Amino acid sequence: MENSISEGHSKVQTTPKTGRLRIGCHLSSSKGYLAMGKEAVRIGADTFQFFSRNPRGSVAKALDEQDVAAYREFAAASDLQFLLAHAPYTMNPCSADAGLRALAKRLMVDDLQRLEYTPGSCYNFHPGSHVKQGVEVGIKYITELLNEVLTKEQTTTVLLETMAGKGTEVGRSFEELQAILAGVELKHKMGVCLDTCHIFDGGYDIVNDLDGVLSEFDRLIGLEKLKAVHLNDSLNVLGSHKDRHAKIGEGNIGLAAFERIINHPALRDLPFYLETPNDQDGYAHEIALLRELYR
Ligand code: FE
Ligand code: FE
Ligand code: ZN
Repeated sequence: MENSISEGHSKVQTTPKTGRLRIGCHLSSSKGYLAMGKEAVRIGADTFQFFSRNPRGSVAKALDEQDVAAYREFAAASDLQFLLAHAPYTMNPCSADAGLRALAKRLMVDDLQRLEYTPGSCYNFHPGSHVKQGVEVGIKYITELLNEVLTKEQTTTVLLETMAGKGTEVGRSFEELQAILAGVELKHKMGVCLDTCHIFDGGYDIVNDLDGVLSEFDRLIGLEKLKAVHLNDSLNVLGSHKDRHAKIGEGNIGLAAFERIINHPALRDLPFYLETPNDQDGYAHEIALLRELYR
C-alpha cells in the first residue's frame, strides 16, 4: 500500500520492517524542516539528523509551525522516518560550573518542547565532560539533569551518544553509559546512539570482534536500548581516544567492517546516520554504496 498523506498526522513513529536499509546523514537545518526532508530524499536518504540549534551557540530559531506541518506531510508521503535531533556539542550537562549546567538544562527543556512538533523523534546528546571533577561526579550531574528534564508525556526518546573518550568525556565506555541510565527514573524515555568512530576510538574492536562488542553492550546496557547508529569511519586507530571522522571505507574501520555492521542482526533494523566529512554528493554516494552492501 502506498503511504497516504494522513499518516503524517499519526502520533508516534513505528518500527518499520521494510527489509530496506534505513539510512541518512546529518543535514543543515538552516532552511527549515521541509527543505531538510526534500534534501534527504534527493540524496537517497530515508531518515536524517540535524542540529536542534546552532551547534556552538545556544540561540534557536523560532519554530515555523507551517514548515513543520509541510514537512510532516512530505515525510509521510516519502517514507522519511526516525528524525534524529542532535543537541549542541558545546552543551555540557556535567560542567563544574553550575551556570553552565543550568544552561544545559534550559537548552534541553526547550529542545524537547520543540521536538514535540515532530512526535516520536529521537534527541541525541553528548553526556559531557567532567573536567577535573571525576567521572562519578559527571555521571551524577547527568542523571540529575535527565531526572529534572524528562517528562512522562514526551514522545521523544533521549539518546546518550557513545563517546571516544577525548579529554574527560563521560560516556567513553558502556559501563559509564549504563551508570547514567541506571540513575534515570523514566528509563523508557532513554536510549543509546552508537557512534562507530567513537567506540572504535574508545577501544571497542568493531573491526575484528563486532559480535563481542555487541554482546558486551547487551550485557551491560541491553541491545533494546540501542536506538540509532552514527556511521563514521575513523582517521585514528583503535583506542586512540581522538574522535576524528573519516569517509566510509577511508579510515581504520574500513568498508568490510561497515558491511558487517549494517547487516548485523542486532543492528540491521536500526536507523543509520552518516556524519562523515562529505558534501551532499559525497553523502549520496555513501548512501548508495551502503545500500548496495545491504542484504
Ligand atoms: Fe555527536
Ligand atoms: Fe556521532
Ligand atoms: Zn565524533
